[in-house]
Amino acid sequence: MDLYQQKIADIFARNRLTNSGPYEKALTEALQKYLGVEYLLLVANGTVALQVAYQVFGVKKAITTPFTFAATPGSLSSQNIETRFADICPKTFNLDPQTISNKELQWADALVPVHVFGNPCKVDQIDALAKKHQLKVIYDAAHCFASKYRNKSLLNFGDCATLSLHATKLFHTVEGGAIIFKRKSDYENAKKIINFGLNIEQIPEFIGTNAKMSEMHAAMGLCVFEHIDYITAHRSGLFNRYQSLLYKDVGFQHWPEHTVSNGAYMPILLKNELELLYLSKWLEKFDIQTRRYFYPSLDSLGLYSSKVESSVSQSVSNRVLCLPMYSDLSYDDVDYICGRVLDGLNDYRQNT
Ligand SMILES: *Cc1c(COP(=O)(O)O)cnc(C)c1O
Repeated sequence: MDLYQQKIADIFARNRLTNSGPYEKALTEALQKYLGVEYLLLVANGTVALQVAYQVFGVKKAITTPFTFAATPGSLSSQNIETRFADICPKTFNLDPQTISNKELQWADALVPVHVFGNPCKVDQIDALAKKHQLKVIYDAAHCFASKYRNKSLLNFGDCATLSLHATKLFHTVEGGAIIFKRKSDYENAKKIINFGLNIEQIPEFIGTNAKMSEMHAAMGLCVFEHIDYITAHRSGLFNRYQSLLYKDVGFQHWPEHTVSNGAYMPILLKNELELLYLSKWLEKFDIQTRRYFYPSLDSLGLYSSKVESSVSQSVSNRVLCLPMYSDLSYDDVDYICGRVLDGLNDYRQNT
């Protein structure tokens, strides 16, 4: 808090509040180094990060997953991009490339898979499909800060990956986002898009938007970044503790080999929706807040252009409950929560 106030005072002393100020530059450099990525562009939020990416790649027809936050298909539909859902894998909760028909692959020009809860998609399979059908791959990597796959950041996969730096995410700038591009030319293009499509002479070269990150937001990012090693190590520890206490009684998302989980979320998979509802009510009695993340499965709403039902996504969505996970949580808290979870499940299972 003190550090933040000092940085805010610095911003006013400089009188440079936004438009590529020194804190935005410093945060960009810190993140590039920490994540091991080159073409990282900070933006105003994770939703606009996706929309800017669609403009860079000229996306008109996209395939995405219904087991995600509303921002994923919403960012597509709001840009008038035709959207179809592909179902998910029941183990990883990620888009299952095998559920996409050849016809759909020919129809689409982009795939927008989500690394759900920071868990890597089948990146090789998706890459191969994209090459074969000339599709762009835009990963919604909103949950993937500090997720690693085969010893490198998960943000390195696809034509680009987008981050959300919203206050609820593992690393944040209050509101914010980032796009990590594979190619420099795409990065340069996006840099103009987020600043109204202006060129160096400040003349509009094409139609863009305003998606810049302010100095206040970047300052918050720099403050949180001071603690990033503690945050990731502590959360991974909590994640492992939860798993070791609950593995006999609940299901977990399946993580592939060579993956480092970032402990962003603590989802558990229950047997059915009644059990889930019973448990979340039970935990409420002990002031333990849970979240149904993601519920409902977005194919069931009829809001987005896709009308195809995704039965696996609906089944998983009905049964996933996220337990408390945040950096101030202690191991004792986790032990207490797991005790109440096991009590609640015993109570439910004995009475049904
Ligand atoms: C949080 C989130 C977003 C949106 O990010 P904002 O920064 O809130 O706009 C997009 N996709 C997923 C999967 C998210 O969880």
